[in-house]
Amino acid sequence: MRATKLYAPTLREVPAEAEIASHKLMLKAGLICKITAGMYTYLPLAWRVMKKIEAIIREEMDGIDGQELMMPIVQPAELWQASGRWPVYGEEMMRLKDRHQREYCLGPTHEEMITWQVAHDLKSYKQLPIRLYQMQSKFRDERRPRFGLMRSREFVMKDMYSFDKDEAGLQASYDAAYGAYSRIFSRCGLNFRPVEADSGAIGGSGSHEFMALADSGEAEVLFCDGCDYAANVEIAALPPEKAVAAEAKAIEEVVTPDCGTIEAVANFLGLATHQTVKSLCYQADDEFVLVLIRGDRHLNEVKLQNALNCVELSMATDEAIVAHGLVKGFIGPVGVKGIKIVIDEEVSFMVNQVVGANKKDCHLLNVNLGRDYQADIIADVRLVGAGDACPHCGKGHLQSARGIEVGQVFKLYTKYSEKLKAVYLDENGVEKPTVMGCYGIGVGRTMAALIEQSHDEYGIIWPMAIAPYQVVIVPVNDKDAAITACCEDLYQALTAAGIEVVLDDRKERSGVKFNDADLIGYPIRVTVGTKGLEKGIVEVKYRHNGAVEEIAVKESAAYISDKVKEMLK
Ligand code: ATP
Ligand code: MG
Repeated sequence: MRATKLYAPTLREVPAEAEIASHKLMLKAGLICKITAGMYTYLPLAWRVMKKIEAIIREEMDGIDGQELMMPIVQPAELWQASGRWPVYGEEMMRLKDRHQREYCLGPTHEEMITWQVAHDLKSYKQLPIRLYQMQSKFRDERRPRFGLMRSREFVMKDMYSFDKDEAGLQASYDAAYGAYSRIFSRCGLNFRPVEADSGAIGGSGSHEFMALADSGEAEVLFCDGCDYAANVEIAALPPEKAVAAEAKAIEEVVTPDCGTIEAVANFLGLATHQTVKSLCYQADDEFVLVLIRGDRHLNEVKLQNALNCVELSMATDEAIVAHGLVKGFIGPVGVKGIKIVIDEEVSFMVNQVVGANKKDCHLLNVNLGRDYQADIIADVRLVGAGDACPHCGKGHLQSARGIEVGQVFKLYTKYSEKLKAVYLDENGVEKPTVMGCYGIGVGRTMAALIEQSHDEYGIIWPMAIAPYQVVIVPVNDKDAAITACCEDLYQALTAAGIEVVLDDRKERSGVKFNDADLIGYPIRVTVGTKGLEKGIVEVKYRHNGAVEEIAVKESAAYISDKVKEMLK
């Protein structure tokens, strides 16, 4: 490729909305162009990177007996009605109608489609396992599309689905996908970590997310400094602290003027915050819920959502709190009627609790579960944080880091196969639903995550494996015929050797060319200058470490091809 022909419209001024490095650099280096909120054109440089990431994914998916297919992007509503997700998927789903007023959506994911596909033809256990995948645009009308390709509304996903006859089969498919994902992200050059992830109401060790570690990551991951435990903060567990056993005392109302916060109440009563109980109000779908956790803890909304098995969860409004006869700042569980009460398991161990009295400026002392109020649900709904004890080894402590979720593996069990009748006859002729798993990778997000981890003040630093081009040749003086001839020869020789090379034949100052080479991030830059040619050498510079080598012109093509191959290993 000659730079004069390369379509890479670089930007001098990056718009202010580009907050993180990958977004800024992709716009600046002419990799992507925004069409509208969360929708981008992948320009040729980015598309080359995407194709390389896809090729790595494809190899690894094929390596675990995955077979690639391609399903329609537009999906009929009936399939989503059959799975029960049409009414509950919410505003993230882009819906449309055809000329006959039939309803469809633009696929945000493909569980329904693939399950229908397999159901269509599945008869016997002999056909299982089946592992199918595709690489395709997905559509999600994200509430806050941002950070360029990180959280966009249209994005390319590799999604694989596995169908097995039983849970042991699912575990084998899951392990195979987990291994393939580890190899994929290593080959892409990412610094990543698989962490235990939220698997919705299914619970258990049903899911892992692959997190690229980066300060700009939207997720928080916790990992133990003493063992290999690592989890998304959304699900990290914390062994409950059991309160010291004590006699239940008689309930007592105390006046706590202006003590509308836990800190104020604890302070006023001369207690530590962990000796009090915090009452929070939530709206879970159509239900108003009261949640109790220890005063010094924070609520984990993902865990609460799973405990309630609800679709939408939000904090209750002040109006709703009043409408349920509660007084903000002084809320408690005693005497409330018709409200679901969820308590954190730690609260269930607390004797003589301090709670709000549902009366302005009043709290109750010595409140006890069972005697003074009942709980509808007792569950782990506390948020775990850095410094807490490891739930796995109990000895180490948790550290916190930011992560970008680049992939996720997930056990679906029979959730979709039962609803969409993906059933088979087992060895004994008994009909059973297949046991499913699903496995996604965001291709564009992986590219963006790599840039987050691998850039400097001058631009992107691509690993050889996914660089848009492997080598750039920079002639420092376009009027010197010897330089032009040397560059041209090298360009031809490298191209013939199968190396992906850009010849910067623009009529620009060498400073501009060097800056663009650093910005775009070619792993190897070859500089051909007058002085060097007099000595019979060219300069080879490596983007990742800045090292420079002088190589004899005659040997340069072979040397550079070998280097590229070595760096691909
Ligand atoms: P998130 O929690 O970040 O919204 P998700 O868990 O909803 O993501 P999945 O359904 O697990 O996403 O999708 C599989 C993969 O697709 C993710 O791991 C991520 O790499 C990618 N992905 C998901 N949403 C987006 C998006 N809006 N833009 C770009 N990539 C995305
Ligand atoms: Mg996910």
